[in-house]
Amino acid sequence: MSSQPRVVIVGGGIGGLFAANALIAHGVSVAVYEQAPALGEVGAGVYVTPNAVRHLARVGLGDAVERWGARVGADSCYLRHDGSFIAAVQVTDASGWNANFGMHRADYVDFLAAHLPRGIVHTGHRAVAFEQDAHCARVRFANGAVVEADAVVGADGIHSEMRPHVVPPARPVFHGTVSYRGLVPCERLPGWPVDRWQMWAGPGRHFLVFPVRHGTMVNYVGFVPADQEMKESWSAPGDPEVLRREFEGWDPRIGAVLAQVDRTFRWALYDRDPMPTWANGRLALLGDAAHPMLPHLGQGANQAIEDGMALATILSRVDAQAVPAALRAYERLRRERVAEVQLGARRNGLRVDSADADLTRRDAELVAHAEFRKQLYSYDVVPVARAAAEALAA
Ligand SMILES: Cc1cc2nc3c(=O)[nH]c(=O)nc-3n(C[C@H](O)[C@H](O)[C@H](O)COP(=O)(O)OP(=O)(O)OC[C@H]3O[C@@H](n4cnc5c(N)ncnc54)[C@H](O)[C@@H]3O)c2cc1C
Repeated sequence: MSSQPRVVIVGGGIGGLFAANALIAHGVSVAVYEQAPALGEVGAGVYVTPNAVRHLARVGLGDAVERWGARVGADSCYLRHDGSFIAAVQVTDASGWNANFGMHRADYVDFLAAHLPRGIVHTGHRAVAFEQDAHCARVRFANGAVVEADAVVGADGIHSEMRPHVVPPARPVFHGTVSYRGLVPCERLPGWPVDRWQMWAGPGRHFLVFPVRHGTMVNYVGFVPADQEMKESWSAPGDPEVLRREFEGWDPRIGAVLAQVDRTFRWALYDRDPMPTWANGRLALLGDAAHPMLPHLGQGANQAIEDGMALATILSRVDAQAVPAALRAYERLRRERVAEVQLGARRNGLRVDSADADLTRRDAELVAHAEFRKQLYSYDVVPVARAAAEALAA
């Protein structure tokens, strides 16, 4: 007798929580297991783009995005380090729809979790082992609990415990950069424009500001070259004085933001090469577990949202026995798209750090980059996933 798959998600970050929302919206039974004693996120922003917002809206979270986000508009721009204008930043998809929002990461996790029925998320569960046979998959947790499912989704981040069950262990790639991140309340920045995303590009570093929480705070990220000692630390408190020195002599608007920074976090930038395989039998990877990427296109979480929507679209159309084939179909449809974004993020990082000393050429590339963003934002994973599921059924 055929039955719908029961899904277990390991990891309650943005990727895992959205996937749970998408599965429930498609009528699929799901449980999320998160290692932390409570859900939460760091005090920093995340940029949410149309290719993710269309799925957030489809699962009933469009209002939450509008309520908690800060929409950025047509005055978003790239600037040279001295503040002179380079180019406008694309903020719409090809249809002209502007759904680009700055979001506080904690707000994002909160509304994703709040939209789930009670009892779906189990905190305090650190997955330590995975096994499967022809009929089901099993996850074991450090607290002694064991759960069974037809499909297990590893949404457990860049250091994924599930990943070695899919591909051989490998070290992430360090890119010689750390980012200093944090938030400044807007009342400490009188007159700061909260209707735009702004990036100051190079040389050798770049600085990004966008609003979050309906424009009451600004998120800043300073990307600077890292020495060996910084590399050792994945994520740690940073020294605001060191950060201020990194951008001395740049546009005074950056100095105005940094003058208000009391606390900052330092984040070493790692990614992985695109993976050839995302699934093994009844286990599939999603989000940073499958494709950690550099933040230079602001796409890590947005691609995780696309993953979750693709997975839910396919799994809702198969029975429990067909899960391994369904997860292979998910892998096939996501791999190429995400690899393009992962590699595009590397290229864009070099561009905004002005690795090319010819600034006229760099500026021309930034102007031309609008077309790439337009295509990136226009992509809709749902029709592609439906077609993949139909091909399975045929
Ligand atoms: C500087 C910087 C800026 C960024 N800016 C953007 C941006 O603007 N836009 C964007 O889209 N992306 C951005 N990203 C990327 C984005 O933050 C990540 O891609 C996204 O958060 C990944 O979500 P995830 O759920 O896959 O992983 P995570 O957020 O890492 O969540 C994984 C979860 O799994 C849990 N977990 C781990 N191991 C286990 C285990 N064994 N058992 C149970 N639970 C476990 C963790 O506690 C965590 O809650 C940025 C990243 C950086 C570093």
